[in-house]
Amino acid sequence: MSTDVERSVDNLFIGRTGRLAQTQTSGDSWAQFQTTLKAGVSKNNWETWLSKLEPEFDGDHLTLIAPDEFQLRWVRDKHGDLVESVYQAVYQTHQVPSYRVTENPPPEQPLPLGEDPEPETAQPTMPSSQTPTAASTNLIQRYKFESFVVGQSNRFAWAAAMAVAEQPGAHYNPLFIYGGAGLGKTHLLSAVGHEALTMYPKLVVRYISSENFLNDFIDSIRRKRPDAFKHRYRGVDILLLDDVQFFEGKEQILEEFFHTFNSLYESGKQMVISSDRHPRNLSSLEDRLRSRFEWGLLTDIQPPDVETRLAILKRNAEFAPTPVPIDVLEYIAGLVSDNIRELEGSLTRVTAWSALNRRDIDLETAERVLQDIVNTDAVAPLGPEVIIRTTAQAYGFTVEDVLSSSRRQPLVLCRQIAMYLCRELTDLSLPKIGAQFNRDHTTVLHSVEKVKRILRSDRAVFDRVNQLTQELRKGGGVSTGI
Ligand code: ADP
Ligand code: MG
Repeated sequence: MSTDVERSVDNLFIGRTGRLAQTQTSGDSWAQFQTTLKAGVSKNNWETWLSKLEPEFDGDHLTLIAPDEFQLRWVRDKHGDLVESVYQAVYQTHQVPSYRVTENPPPEQPLPLGEDPEPETAQPTMPSSQTPTAASTNLIQRYKFESFVVGQSNRFAWAAAMAVAEQPGAHYNPLFIYGGAGLGKTHLLSAVGHEALTMYPKLVVRYISSENFLNDFIDSIRRKRPDAFKHRYRGVDILLLDDVQFFEGKEQILEEFFHTFNSLYESGKQMVISSDRHPRNLSSLEDRLRSRFEWGLLTDIQPPDVETRLAILKRNAEFAPTPVPIDVLEYIAGLVSDNIRELEGSLTRVTAWSALNRRDIDLETAERVLQDIVNTDAVAPLGPEVIIRTTAQAYGFTVEDVLSSSRRQPLVLCRQIAMYLCRELTDLSLPKIGAQFNRDHTTVLHSVEKVKRILRSDRAVFDRVNQLTQELRKGGGVSTGI
């Protein structure tokens, strides 16, 4: 099936005498098996996965023993065909190998983190690193494993993230997760942080978007405090770096991150990195950094299939103020296919509408509330400028008002709605949206959550937001006098 398999099995014969000696001992055969397998996969795959397998023989029958369930699944799913062909060729059998997890997990504690005294030079100077708080970790409260729905499209990324959270620094470093917007990358990064802290409360965990990493770096240069920056990022046990594609073409930060990476890697600290693309497609990244991204484990997240979309909607619907019938959930799952944020947003609109109107949700209402989604084929992507301008006008403000620091009402609400719409209607990250408004990403997150709450309780706001959404989706028309 795979060319890897053919190539590798060919190697077995071509590189040798044409046929295997019949008299090999089982030890020789096992060495032969390993050599052949190794030739058929990348160095990385060999070191991370296949070299970890131990053999167990019952007569001729081979059982491969993996160190843990995750490794077992990975090897079987990704390399099962190759393993089987090599086994059959080397042992001249038609049997299929079996797999099991070891009964003797390695005795060493693979977590030198936390308990380990920091090297003298890396003694953290910031008060926050003594007792990690929600603020210093930057983790998003809601994004945990327990709220992450696992399906075909994200199973490997999820399993790898779990494995990393359970044993940070031990296996897959860095863990590199890539995939399109709204597919759960930030959610997984944050979940790793929460989970690791639950198990090892002393760990120093830091989530940071690449954009804020850059801002922080610039700031540290401006304040002439480069050491504080270094301590902040090199003194952590787990660094969760989001949206690394942002570094593309920015040489100075790439250089700095290269050193951060090396420092963390060498001291066995865990990194989890996300990107909207595979490293090979991060074109302006230097090879030395790109290849480091591939040192550990690369895994993608695909758009969710319909079952996963439905499962996510069902989960979200449990928190809705009114019950949502299954046919409505199915309708939404069929309507929105490739962005989970949009999927959740659609359900929020439907449930908010019904809460406001004190009406049960049915298919007809869902269709009405979401009609703009049905009718948006081939509309040019929306930019934040249009959203801000349209929202400002709808509320009788200017764009300058919205971007100002004024905290008077109803300007604040208008600004929050503009942020919410940027989040719902564009693929921009939180820091990118924040930058549009001269605010940081936590303000954006707070505003988005706030607007979601208001939508459920205030009909005027709901109607206005709904109408703005529909107009913006139709083509970014100017909205006044709703
Ligand atoms: P990305 O960082 O890839 O753009 P996010 O992590 O911000 O995507 O996810 C977008 C939204 O979808 C978030 O509200 C997140 O909680 C939700 N989400 C994504 N994947 C899942 C999942 N598998 N289960 C539950 N919610 C998910
Ligand atoms: Mg993200």
